[in-house]
Amino acid sequence: MHKCRIAVYDRDEETLKFLRGFFRGREEYSAAYFRDIPALQAGLKNNPRCAIIAGTGDGCLDELSSSAREFPVVAMVEKDLTKGLSQVMRHNLEFYLMAPFHKDDLDYKLKVLRNRRNFSEGLCSKVKDLEAIVELAYLMSSTLDPDEVLDFMVKRISSALDVSRCFIIGLTHGEKRYARVVSTFETPELKEFRLDLKKYPEIRRAHRLGKPVIVKDALKDPLMKPVSGLMKTLDIKAIMVIPIVYRDEVIGSLFLRTTRKSRPFTEREIKFCREIARAAINPLYNAFLFERLVKEKTRLERLSITDYLTGAYNIRYLYHRLEDEFQRARRYGNPLGCIMFDLDHFKKINDNFGHKAGDMVLREFAQIIKRQVRKTDVFARYGGEEFVLLLTHTPIKGAVTEAGRLRDLIGTHRFRALDEKTGVTVSMGISAFPDPRVAEADVLITLADDALFKAKNRGRDQIVLA
Ligand code: GH3
Ligand code: MG
Ligand code: MG
Repeated sequence: MHKCRIAVYDRDEETLKFLRGFFRGREEYSAAYFRDIPALQAGLKNNPRCAIIAGTGDGCLDELSSSAREFPVVAMVEKDLTKGLSQVMRHNLEFYLMAPFHKDDLDYKLKVLRNRRNFSEGLCSKVKDLEAIVELAYLMSSTLDPDEVLDFMVKRISSALDVSRCFIIGLTHGEKRYARVVSTFETPELKEFRLDLKKYPEIRRAHRLGKPVIVKDALKDPLMKPVSGLMKTLDIKAIMVIPIVYRDEVIGSLFLRTTRKSRPFTEREIKFCREIARAAINPLYNAFLFERLVKEKTRLERLSITDYLTGAYNIRYLYHRLEDEFQRARRYGNPLGCIMFDLDHFKKINDNFGHKAGDMVLREFAQIIKRQVRKTDVFARYGGEEFVLLLTHTPIKGAVTEAGRLRDLIGTHRFRALDEKTGVTVSMGISAFPDPRVAEADVLITLADDALFKAKNRGRDQIVLA
C-alpha cells in the first residue's frame, strides 16, 4: 500500500506534540515537519503531498504561499480561536480542527480528504482516456488512410502510458511464424519490420488464445523462460499483448513493453488498451485489404503488358513505348535503335519436335535476350516467332554491335527442347533514328521489317541494315 504523505507546517509545540502522537501509531501516513517556508517549499517540490496541515497560532496558515495552495490544507485552530477561525474563513478552507484536538476527528478529516482526492484523480484519468478515444473516433471519421489511424493509436498510447515499446503488429492470413510491424511511434525504422514470433512466446500465446496476455514480470514469468536471456539484456519488466480479432480471426495485436524501472500495468491501462485494440480492428483490416489491392493492381498491370508465353513485353506495350521513346529521342536529339528478329525455319522446329517444344524454344530465346538487354531497352514479342528490341540512346552502329552479340549468343546456345545437332539461328533487320526517312515512330518498325525481309532473302542467319 502506498502511504499518504502529509506535510506539517506548524510552530506551536502543543499542536506538534499532538500531531506526533497521532502519526506515530498510523502506518498509512508519513508525516514530515517544517518550520519555515523555504524548507516547506523545498519539501513540497521533492515530494508531492496528499495534504498540508498548518497551524493558525503563529501565522503559519497565512504564510502558506501560492505554491503550497495547490495541495489540500487542514487548519489546526490553536490558541486564539476567534483569530484562528477568521483565518480559516479568509482562506476558504473546508477542513479544520479546533483546540483541544481529538485524534478521531483528525483521522476522519484526513480520510474524507484522501477519498475525495482518489476519486478526483480517477475521474481525471478517465476523462483523459475518454478524450483520447473521442479524438480517435474523430480521426477515424475524417481520414481514409488506415495507416494514419494506427499510427495515431500507438502515439497516443505511448504518450499516455510509460512504455518503452508500443507496436501494432499485423498477421498475414495463414502465416503463424512471422508478423510484421504495422505501426510504431518511437522507432519508425522498425515499420514493416518482420518479427520472428519464435522470439515472442507472449505474442504467440495471445494469438493462439485470441485473448490478452499480461506479463507482470518478464524475468519471473514461466511463459518467458525460453527468452529470459533476451529479457535480461533488454531490461524488460512488464508486457501486454492484446490480440486484434476480425470475425474470429486474429489479424494482429497491440504490443506494449515496459522496462525494469517502470511499474507494471494497472487495470485502468489494460482497459484503455483493450478499447484502443477494439478500435484498431477495422483500420488494421482495411490496411490489409489496401495492401492486397495494391499488390493485385501491380500484378494486373504487369500482366497486361506482358506476353503470356515468353514473358517479353506484348505488342501493345511495344507501340506505346515506341511512341514515347521516339518523341523523347526527337526532342532531345538522342539516337534510338531498333532490331527486328525472326527465327529461321521455325516451322521445321515445330514439325520435327512438336509445337510444345517450339513453345519452349520461343520462351528460352526470349529469356536469353531479356537477360542481355538493359533496363531502359524494350524487348517485345511482335507476333509468332518475331520479336522487336528497341535500344534507347543507341545509334545504328551500337545497334549493329548489339545485334551481332545476340546473334552469336543464340547461334551457340543449346536449347533444352531440341537435340544436340539442332541449333537455332535468327535473322535480323536493323533501323535507327535519326534517319531522314523516319518522320514517325512506325517507320522505324517498317524499315527494320524490310531489312529483315532482305536478311531472309540473302540466306538467313544474317544482320541487314535498313
Ligand atoms: P523463316 O522465318 O526462316 O522464313 O521460316 P519460318 O518457318 O520461321 O517461317 P514462317 O514465318 O512462315 O513460320 C513461322 C512459324 O512459327 C509458323 C508457326 O506455326 C510458328 N509459330 C508461330 N507462333 C508460334 C508459337 O507461339 N508457338 C509455336 N510452337 N510455333 C509458333
Ligand atoms: Mg515469321
Ligand atoms: Mg521465321
